Amino acid sequence: MIVRARTVVTMDGPPIGNGAVVVSADRIVDVGEFDQIEKENAGEIVDLGEQALLPGLINAHCHLDYTCLRGKIPPQKSFTDWIRAINAEKLKLSPKDYLASINNGFTEARRFGTTTIANLTAFPELIAQINAPIRTWWFGELIDVRAPERANEIVDLAIESLKSSSECAYTSPLSKRSRNRGIAAVQTQPWGLAPHALFTASKDLYRRCEEIALSENILLTTHLAESREEMEMFRDAAGSLYEFLKGIGRPMDDCGKSTPLQLFVGAPGGRAQREWIVAHLNELREGDFELLEKSICNFHVVHSPRSHDYFGHSRFEFERLRSLGFNICLGTDSLASNESLSLFDEMRAFQKEFPSVSPEEILQMVTVNAAMALRQGKVLGRIRSGFRADLIAVSSKGTGDVFEEIIASERPVDWMLLDGKEKRNATDTAKLSG
Ligand SMILES: [Zn+2]
Repeated sequence: MIVRARTVVTMDGPPIGNGAVVVSADRIVDVGEFDQIEKENAGEIVDLGEQALLPGLINAHCHLDYTCLRGKIPPQKSFTDWIRAINAEKLKLSPKDYLASINNGFTEARRFGTTTIANLTAFPELIAQINAPIRTWWFGELIDVRAPERANEIVDLAIESLKSSSECAYTSPLSKRSRNRGIAAVQTQPWGLAPHALFTASKDLYRRCEEIALSENILLTTHLAESREEMEMFRDAAGSLYEFLKGIGRPMDDCGKSTPLQLFVGAPGGRAQREWIVAHLNELREGDFELLEKSICNFHVVHSPRSHDYFGHSRFEFERLRSLGFNICLGTDSLASNESLSLFDEMRAFQKEFPSVSPEEILQMVTVNAAMALRQGKVLGRIRSGFRADLIAVSSKGTGDVFEEIIASERPVDWMLLDGKEKRNATDTAKLSG
């Protein structure tokens, strides 16, 4: 198949005007100017016309569990109040509600051009009942704050579900096709572990996750230094989060000594050297930056501009983190603190926050950078020969900067290729048939 578009934005060199991409099965096999491509390749031509063709977007941090909480929790006075509010909402939800929530979230994410997602779930046991319509890295979100003595058991139970559903993934349409052709599936074990945060997951739980990551070669993610209350708790042994967690029986002997980052980086076992995908890093003090400069940290950092805005966190120090060499990605976080699962909305929010960052660099954060965080930098995030055929098209008039046009796109994505398979938006299909 040859896909032609007004502009092909490869994220692998300058955009190509009147460009084309050749796709065979689930792979990109060639990319270049249409005239040249047409001469050298046979196959059906799909002409997308006045569109920009780009790599499918990658959401580096999301919780689809809570898609149904959109608009349910107004901004609270403190992060701790928000935790109380979400806990109260969660009490009203059944496994059936969570399943619907996750499925609706997938539909919305895909509608807005997301072809890969790093999704944290507190319910790994439900994954087997879900047929993810996009590439999904399932992270088991783990909390042992009410039962730290059960840390290992909690991790092992989650792994059992994650592993068995990862075997099920082989029978899903997305990967079955690949397997039949003798090509490696999307990923043999598309799962990882997510100890929730330093204030809800014990040292033992983190340690267990790190052991498993080493033996199973899986990804790790966590929330770190997100709120002022988290900073107050660990640095000063004070504040509403400190009081709340003390009240539910959390041992607080790790509080009053160091910042969240110091606690995380300073943990035994060379935590800093592992490639953690760290969500947030909003609350950093000067000493934290010094520590980041000194230590060899291999973190990938995920920023969620709209969730950040919702909570009114301290300024995200994008420029400083970037200059320290961190790979910075974007994620939507959950709809309990955000309004949509569109990464276009997320990119626009980032642009508003950091107007001097180029639109091209912003797009990198949901393509190339996010692919790297998921260790897929050699197969996802760019349009390059040998890469997975995950492509999306957005309308382009060609009058201005194509990256600017992409970021400004508000409509659902009309056309996408996912693992080499053409998908059109349900609403557009309805329009065509009606
Ligand atoms: Zn999160």
